[in-house]
Amino acid sequence: MSDASQDAARAAAAAQAEAAAKAAQAALDARALLESDTTIDAAMPLLRLIEQYFAETRTGEGPVSTWHSPEIIADRLVEPMPRQPHALSDVARRLATALLADANRLAHPMYIGHQVSAPLPAAVWTDAVISAFNQSMAVREMSPAITPLEHQVIEWMTDLIGWDARAGGTMTSGGSEATLTALLAARSHAVPDVWAKGLGASAPVLVCGEHAHYAVTRAAGIMGLGQNHVVVIPSRAHRMDVQALDERLAILRGRGSRVMAVVATAGCTATGAFDDLEAIADLCARHADDHGPLWLHVDAAHGGGALLSPAHRPRLAGIARARSVAWDPHKTMLLPLAAGMLLVREEHDLDRAFAQQAPYLFAPGGDARAWDMGPRSFQCSRRADVVKVWVALQRYGTDALGALYAHLCAMAQRLHERLTTHATFRPLHEPESNILCFAWLPPGVDDPRERDALTDTLRERYNRSGRGWITSTTLDGRRVLRITVMNARTDGAHIDALVSGLEAEAARVLRG
Ligand SMILES: *Cc1c(COP(=O)(O)O)cnc(C)c1O
Repeated sequence: MSDASQDAARAAAAAQAEAAAKAAQAALDARALLESDTTIDAAMPLLRLIEQYFAETRTGEGPVSTWHSPEIIADRLVEPMPRQPHALSDVARRLATALLADANRLAHPMYIGHQVSAPLPAAVWTDAVISAFNQSMAVREMSPAITPLEHQVIEWMTDLIGWDARAGGTMTSGGSEATLTALLAARSHAVPDVWAKGLGASAPVLVCGEHAHYAVTRAAGIMGLGQNHVVVIPSRAHRMDVQALDERLAILRGRGSRVMAVVATAGCTATGAFDDLEAIADLCARHADDHGPLWLHVDAAHGGGALLSPAHRPRLAGIARARSVAWDPHKTMLLPLAAGMLLVREEHDLDRAFAQQAPYLFAPGGDARAWDMGPRSFQCSRRADVVKVWVALQRYGTDALGALYAHLCAMAQRLHERLTTHATFRPLHEPESNILCFAWLPPGVDDPRERDALTDTLRERYNRSGRGWITSTTLDGRRVLRITVMNARTDGAHIDALVSGLEAEAARVLRG
């Protein structure tokens, strides 16, 4: 080799060594950054944000929400993706000013809006613990302590329903996943070789109520059933009309249509009404086919919390006759997102929902299969959300959680009482849970479409004012106002403040 080329090779080697040293130093620096974030002191700026939020919303002073357009907020966030680190305290400050300042404050007692909770504080803190340990729930070997815990918590819940040791289930991301999974299991029951051969020409039908959550028809779409295989039973007083169900099931049987499942709702989204589960279970038994009684799935995503309250539990009478139940602890048990559950009367039903082999994950046969949750779930990597459910149960107990459920319902009842004698606001149903729909009937406005438009304006202006937050929906074809009480802090004085706030805003809307 010539001197020149030896020099070039040496220079290249030196450059390579230098680059390697730089890369090693960058990795050391990055790892040191991580280590510097592992103490409570480092975490404090983030934890303080939570403490401040709880404190600021406690008194009910200050706005529930701001009303900046998404463009204004998006503009604040435009910048190149950060290459250099920032101090965690600076990031926390920015999070507070650029983002959390415009978050909807669900912990504010005047937030009486959507079906999302002001979460139980003990569960909020637990979320960090779940992230720290990051046990994935697919297979037992990845979560040796938490997999048995999930089995235990599910057993508590299935006991509450009134099922025996054959029952089982899985945590889910929410009611949508729980219902999809239940219906997949029901589909495999109705069409046993569906996983291998598809539905072909033999698609079964799915029966649900007019007020079923859209998760049900969405599941039908995902499963490839086709909308024309979803039979919708009309409601009477916001509940599934049981006589109409009886008639439709008779017609379907006469036609030789296989009914894959009947979906009942316990705590329906619009009004919080509970379907008559005993009557529906009777019909599922009476219209049995050669697979046995029709599969009854109860969507108790919202109303499942009533099982914890002795006063409200009777609304779920008959739930033990369901074959599968969706129940979201992140709804009326007030857990933070996400905590959903699918519960089945017979655990082996769930093993049929996903008849898939994955030899690199799931041990074939043997004991491992019974513990592993992966085969029962759509998710692979799955967060150990069951830990916060367990912590909430340990910290508060079912007595307190049941008392909280009853309190949320009592607040809807209080609004009902206030509006029953009101001049211009009218409750549209007896509250069966923590939800109430009500109408605004401004004097002299008789055109229903004009009333719809005014109702939407009233809601928008009230929410925009920052003094409270409610929702609206369409009920029996008309725009109506709606509250869902999901915050333990909301009490009678806040319900009264809601009424006076709406009255004041209504007067302004009418003045134009
Ligand atoms: C919220 C809700 C769902 C959907 O559950 P997610 O947790 O949002 O997926 C389904 N059914 C009912 C009755 C619900 O209230």
